[in-house]
Amino acid sequence: MIAVLEELRAEVYRALKALPSNGLVQGTSGNASGRDGDYVVIKPSGVEYDSLSPDNLVVVDLSGRVIEGVLKPSVDTLAHTHSTYATVYAVLGRSIPVYLTEIADLFGGPIPVSSYVPPGDEKIGKEFAEKACPGRFQALLMRNHGVFTAGKTPKDALTAALIVEHSARIAHLAEDVGNPAVLPEEEVRKLHERYGEAYGQRSDEKG
Ligand SMILES: [Zn+2]
Repeated sequence: MIAVLEELRAEVYRALKALPSNGLVQGTSGNASGRDGDYVVIKPSGVEYDSLSPDNLVVVDLSGRVIEGVLKPSVDTLAHTHSTYATVYAVLGRSIPVYLTEIADLFGGPIPVSSYVPPGDEKIGKEFAEKACPGRFQALLMRNHGVFTAGKTPKDALTAALIVEHSARIAHLAEDVGNPAVLPEEEVRKLHERYGEAYGQRSDEKG
């Protein structure tokens, strides 16, 4: 095994285990992955979350060729859930407005929704690159499908997936009860910048 990837295998494993325990995925669906240079550590396709271990994760290169692992890699290499409330917005083709400061902090704008792309199609990556909100935390509602997120680490991608689901849930309930106020663009920009600076400092402290 590639020794430098041991830490990344452990990180991806922890992010993967957190998906079902936070109710973000059902059955074997969903995925989380992590990248180190030319290597991507990814969940094998169709394997139960209970059967996962850091050692049976698959390592692929950036073109998707399997470097380590006997199990087929999952069909895509982005963090990916079918979490309930966020998927409702994906089904409606609606972005999630910036009702919450958390959305401003992490994503710096509404959580956008993609055009329809069939599951497993390589166009999903292209769609994500073009339409996901940019930054350390990236997210895109995949039309009629679910949620794709990315971050600098598997933990960031997981955080993004959790905040997207939480935001969708609040948005749904708020819209159901009344007319929630969207944060003004100027305020969203300020919050996002401030969060970015604070996040940078925290990362520096950890070295
Ligand atoms: Zn899916």
